[in-house]
Amino acid sequence: MKTIGLIGGMSWESTVTYYQVINRVVKEKLGGFCSAKCLLYSVNFDEIEKCQMSGDWKKSGEILNQAALSLKKGGADFIVLCTNTMHKVADQIMQNVDLPFLHIAEATASKLKAHGICKTALFGTKFTMQQDFYKSVLIKNGIDVIIPNDDDVSLINDVIYNQLCMGEIKQESKKEFLRIIDDMQKQGAESVILGCTEIGLLVQQQDTSVKLFDTALIHAEQAALFAIE
Ligand code: GLU
Repeated sequence: MKTIGLIGGMSWESTVTYYQVINRVVKEKLGGFCSAKCLLYSVNFDEIEKCQMSGDWKKSGEILNQAALSLKKGGADFIVLCTNTMHKVADQIMQNVDLPFLHIAEATASKLKAHGICKTALFGTKFTMQQDFYKSVLIKNGIDVIIPNDDDVSLINDVIYNQLCMGEIKQESKKEFLRIIDDMQKQGAESVILGCTEIGLLVQQQDTSVKLFDTALIHAEQAALFAIE
């Protein structure tokens, strides 16, 4: 079994999901007492969030590159970055690391393609929704992407940072997310990508008839399968 190198803590609320899913999948596949071999480098999210807000992506990339190098030294066989947003600096994070990197948007694109989805909505931080680094991976895979209007982009972004990353799950936020999900469907989206690893803490598939793709679940499952492949 390969050793998974997880870069987590962004936020730690969703890193918990990765740890649970990875171990559940390994147990399901291998049975008995089997669990995943993994190393977790959990960063101080305060440092990363400050870089995001000030636009100092280079500094956040350096911090995460150090994390990746540490995981390699510790014996990780591949790297999993447990957040969508910081994939913006994926290349910098993997500089001189020389290990396989499981890209969250690539994993998600493969899942959508397997379900025959041609047009999807994307929820996430404002960086993930509005910038190109994430959408371009989906588009490259032949998937059309739409995002909510500016007010709803702000709402989703605020809920992520001010509630979900703080461990707060509020029913009124869930209602708003479900309203925006319906809106996206009316605009022709065949699915909604939960492109932020905390959104699954707020809305799950049983809450809506619209097909949801939870990136934390997809990415963690892919990591587990790759580890035991
Ligand atoms: N975990 C989130 C994501 O998947 C947001 C927190 C962050 O900015 O890293 O994008």
